[in-house]
Amino acid sequence: MIQVTNLYKSFGELKVLEDISLHIKKGEIYGLIGRSGVGKSTLLRCINGLESYDAGSMLVDGREVKAMNQKELLAFRKNIGFIFQQFSLLNRMDVYNNVAFPMRSWKYDKKTIDRKVKELLELVGLSDKIHARPSELSGGQKQRVAIARALSLDPAILLCDEATSSLDPKTAYSFTDLLDKINKEMGITIVVVTHQMAILRRICQNITILQEGKVAVTGSVEDIFLKQHPALVELIGQQNIDLSQDGITIKVVISKENSQTPVLTQMVRDLNIDFVISGGAMEKFRDHTMGSILINLREQDLVKATQYLDAKHIPWYRMSPQEPQTAEVSVC
Ligand code: ADP
Ligand code: MG
Repeated sequence: MIQVTNLYKSFGELKVLEDISLHIKKGEIYGLIGRSGVGKSTLLRCINGLESYDAGSMLVDGREVKAMNQKELLAFRKNIGFIFQQFSLLNRMDVYNNVAFPMRSWKYDKKTIDRKVKELLELVGLSDKIHARPSELSGGQKQRVAIARALSLDPAILLCDEATSSLDPKTAYSFTDLLDKINKEMGITIVVVTHQMAILRRICQNITILQEGKVAVTGSVEDIFLKQHPALVELIGQQNIDLSQDGITIKVVISKENSQTPVLTQMVRDLNIDFVISGGAMEKFRDHTMGSILINLREQDLVKATQYLDAKHIPWYRMSPQEPQTAEVSVC
């Protein structure tokens, strides 16, 4: 659906995107993260042709964005909805007219506009606010209007640039649940730019972390989170875990495949060993829960314990006291 290959973009002397390659499949929810100023918004704007690029290719639905003329671009953008952090609603218009606005620009007939506005407000749960002004709405409600407006022209792609950043966590979650519903029910491909990790985990399948305009890592959200990819650690900071200087600490991954199996208690019984639980966290992902448990073993038990885990296909990492979140050994 969106194929980016060796894309470069500069603003004058400032190199913003360097050699970006990534692939966003039709119908998925894809996450883009990275520090402020790393080029996320620029990349989104290259997808819908609001910004051009210097070299490389940006194929959207098989078409090179840069090769389109103004008229083609206008029609192309109709197929791509865009929502921002700032909602960008028109305050002089009520909710109905804000949602109707793009359809009026495209000269949809009155009856179609009326039907679609009502359908969309029903979808986003704001039918009762149809004649309210944006100033009378909460942040979450404004963002729902922005979504309804972004969907009014039936786009195949929805780009969300920090759309949940100004919302409190509960409102942000209900907003992402709405994105999820739109993705599932309408099959719209969604690209989400956010710095909120919980949002990424909750709705994205694949993500790319950008560092200084380059792709630091790209892959499934579970993989990047569970393996604590260095680019992710760099972004969210080291977790401060006090690892014991005695014994060996390993991180046992609780994946969706093994989360229902009592592996650790079985291991204790089968091997007749003991260990100390020194940390752990479970995280909610798109449609399952995953996480890890840190266990501190006696040195002489390490080999049999890890062989046991390997035999059961339970991923584990040895934790190094110097670099708490860097995996030293990984067996899957
Ligand atoms: P992000 O969304 O990751 O915070 P942006 O894509 O907005 O980053 O910006 C990346 C860099 O490009 C920043 O240094 C920003 O100042 C610069 N930049 C963005 N847009 C323009 C522009 N139109 N002209 C000049 N510099 C820009
Ligand atoms: Mg930005």
